[in-house]
Order: sequence, then structure tokens, then C-alpha cells
Amino acid sequence: MFENIVGHEEAKNELRNHIYRKELSHAYIFYGNEGIGKFSLAKEFSKSLLCDEFEEYCGNCQSCHLFDGKTHPDFRIIDSEKSIKVKDILEMIDFLIKRPIVSKKKVVIINDSEKLTNEAQNKLLKTFEEPPSYAVIILIVNNPNKIIDTIKSRGYEIEFNVLDDDKVVEFLKEYSDDKELNYSQIAKFSQGSITKAISTLESDHFNQLSALPNEIFSSIINNDEYKLLKIASQVSEIQELLEFMLTWIRDISILKKSRNFGNIFNANYINELQRQSNYFDIEILIKFSNIIENTKKVISNHVNPAVVLNYCLLKIQEEYYEYSNRC
Ligand SMILES: [Zn+2]
Repeated sequence: MFENIVGHEEAKNELRNHIYRKELSHAYIFYGNEGIGKFSLAKEFSKSLLCDEFEEYCGNCQSCHLFDGKTHPDFRIIDSEKSIKVKDILEMIDFLIKRPIVSKKKVVIINDSEKLTNEAQNKLLKTFEEPPSYAVIILIVNNPNKIIDTIKSRGYEIEFNVLDDDKVVEFLKEYSDDKELNYSQIAKFSQGSITKAISTLESDHFNQLSALPNEIFSSIINNDEYKLLKIASQVSEIQELLEFMLTWIRDISILKKSRNFGNIFNANYINELQRQSNYFDIEILIKFSNIIENTKKVISNHVNPAVVLNYCLLKIQEEYYEYSNRC
């Protein structure tokens, strides 16, 4: 059961046991980083709960067909771009009060539960206190601290840990058969998130972006302001570029401290990294990282991210210029 979900063996085992032993909770709280498979597992779990076979979904019964066709009358997903309000919870209660039509259970997934307003959480609590016998509600949340304690104490918490790079590589190999791609680089970049890995994989710009830190730091060493501004003006995925720059700085730091090539992210640029490592000491690398981290913080709220990137690159260059004159 749950073979389609990558990793999360502990979570899967717990849920399997709940099903096999028929010891279901009325409320589950799936928590852990964004994009690591909480929602996918919640859907598989729901499908199993609704299936006629109950223990493991068969894929052939009426319930399974309806579920796959997204028309199961006993299943709901609550999702919202902005906030999940009292009226959404009232609709859910209305849905849950009526007995199931096709299955023995009724299941609701509340995605991004951090979007529940306080009033909505309090309304939800009422359902958690006296749930209909056939109801199962699954809350999905990145940070469980966003859920009020009274709800948490009534829900069964299932933690989702970040996936190992190996697991992500395994998934990517199944997902795409493009032999040209550097799966382990994408996996490292995705930091355990399958969602991020897929979006990275599907971004045409991955290879272009991964080439830019080399150009940027070469321009900084050469004091080539014109080139820096030119690069900044051509990039649209600024957040991603900043992440790539951080991996570049981390790689140089690793090379300076040890010769452990195994942890190098930009392994296909090893010669360039080694060359550049002669120009920077650890202290200046930390300064660069701080500038980039600060840029990441301000950029999401800024009306013009390109201006922020410009400023960031020039600031790094300025730091380097002062540093190289001191040495
Ligand atoms: Zn079935």
C-alpha cells in the first residue's frame, strides 16, 4: 500500500496499521516541509479508506473509479488561495452531517491548514469534539504550530521528514528519462521536496541558471561591473539564481576547508570552483552569503526584484573590492 509515494516509510507504516487494525482516528494532522508528499499520501490514504475493499484500495470498485474521476460524493478537498474561513468549515460540516452515499466513510482533506483563520479553527474544533462516526478529516500543514493546541490534542499527528537526496534521485529517474539531466544536482537543489524537484526539472532554465554563478563570481574577481549588470538584467528567476549562488559559495567553502569533493553541488564546475577558491577566504565568503540571505528576505516583498538583484551583486562586488585591496 502507498507504493506510489516516495519515502516516508514511518508515516506509511503508521497509516497502514491504523487501517489494518481498524483503529482510525477521526482527525489526522500531516505536518512537515512543503512539497515532500503530505498531500499525495493523504489522497492515497483517503482512497483506501473509501474503497470497498477498505484495507488496500483495489482500483476497480465504484468508489475507486469515482475517486480517480474526482467525483466521489463522500470525499472533499478544502483548499484556498488565501484564507480558509468559517463559511468553508460550515460547508464542510454540512457535508459531513449527511451519511456517506457510496462508501462506509466520508473523508475531508484540508490542504494548507495554516490558512485556517482562528475563527475557522474554533469552528473546526467543534467537529473534532463530536465527529460523526464515519468521518475522517486530514489536516495538512507545513508548520504544526499554526494549529491551535486544542485541535492538535484531538488529532493524530503524523510527521513527514525531508527526503534524502537518494530518494529524490530515485523519483526523478522514474519521472523523467532524460539522460542529459544531472539528477543528483537537481535533488540537492530541491532539498528534499519532490514538488520543487519537479518544477526544477521542468524549468528550461535550470541549466542556464546553474551556469550563472560561475560567470557572476568571475566578473566579481575581474571587477567587471558591466558584465554583472548585464547578467542581472537577463535573469527572471531571481530567487532560484540566489539559491544557486549560495550553492556556489558553499562549494568554494567546502573546497577551502577540505578536499571532500563528494559534497560539491556544482560538481561539473569543479575546475572553476577550485580556481576561484584561491581568490576568497572563508570570512569574505560568509559576507557574501549574508548579503544573499538578506536579499532573499527583501526580494519577495519588493516591487522590482531586478533592482534588488542589481544591488545585491554590486554590494558583493564592493565587498570583494575592499577585501582584495586589503590583501
Ligand atoms: Zn476500490
